[in-house]
Amino acid sequence: MSLPPDYHMHTPLCRHASGEPTDLAAQAIKVGLAEIGFSDHSPMPRDDFDDWRMRASQLDEYVAKVELARRAHPTLLIRLALEVDYIPGYEDWIRELAGRHPWDYLIGSVHYISESWAIDSPSQISKWKDRKPIEVWTAYFERLTMAAESGLFEIIAHPDLCKKFCFYPEEDCGPLFLRFLEAVKGNDLAMEINTGGLRKDCREIYPSPRIVQLAAQMGVPITFGSDAHATTEVGMNFAEAVQLARSAGYTHSRQFTRRKRQTVAL
Ligand SMILES: [Zn+2]
Ligand SMILES: [Zn+2]
Repeated sequence: MSLPPDYHMHTPLCRHASGEPTDLAAQAIKVGLAEIGFSDHSPMPRDDFDDWRMRASQLDEYVAKVELARRAHPTLLIRLALEVDYIPGYEDWIRELAGRHPWDYLIGSVHYISESWAIDSPSQISKWKDRKPIEVWTAYFERLTMAAESGLFEIIAHPDLCKKFCFYPEEDCGPLFLRFLEAVKGNDLAMEINTGGLRKDCREIYPSPRIVQLAAQMGVPITFGSDAHATTEVGMNFAEAVQLARSAGYTHSRQFTRRKRQTVAL
């Protein structure tokens, strides 16, 4: 079985990943991938915003490292991308980043539901205990829907990241999922199937089978990502991710070149 591209991979520039792009590329070849894309955490306008992303001055270095990996592994198709946090009010900054380099795609993601709370941050887990899960999930999915409607991205990352620490709402989240998926479909974006969730407390691919099934019924395009923060994580659990997509009815996924999409057989 040929595997789809791994479009979500990090580098040491984000300060919480190991393995240089050339090492990740070598691993991709080893596990049988024909195409990958680097999508490291983009800089913020202020470098002191948090401590888990590259600084604004490192963007050129990042691009150079990806270029080095391309030269070292000419048989592998290597895309240049960024994972960009969507925060309302940061649209101009994201547009500025988009113009800096010839990106193949931009992944929009939501980690922050306020300026100060990244819901997936282990150091901020106590904040979950002060709030009802449904309130956090609602705020998260509303922001994710805004990201999909912003016109700034090609792909929306790890759609139910809010399940990471297993704070599940008792209420039905169906309407939240539907509004999000309608925004992805309506703006002709792709939803990411991200195997990183299997390595977290939730032990489940992002998003859940329920969301993948809804997305398939609605005809929402997909991409795949390992969210590799280490060399060994490249393409990890991709057979399982493809199986999840296929069992929901998917036969195709999306590829991107210079922010132009293409639909290819799975
Ligand atoms: Zn990360
Ligand atoms: Zn992320």
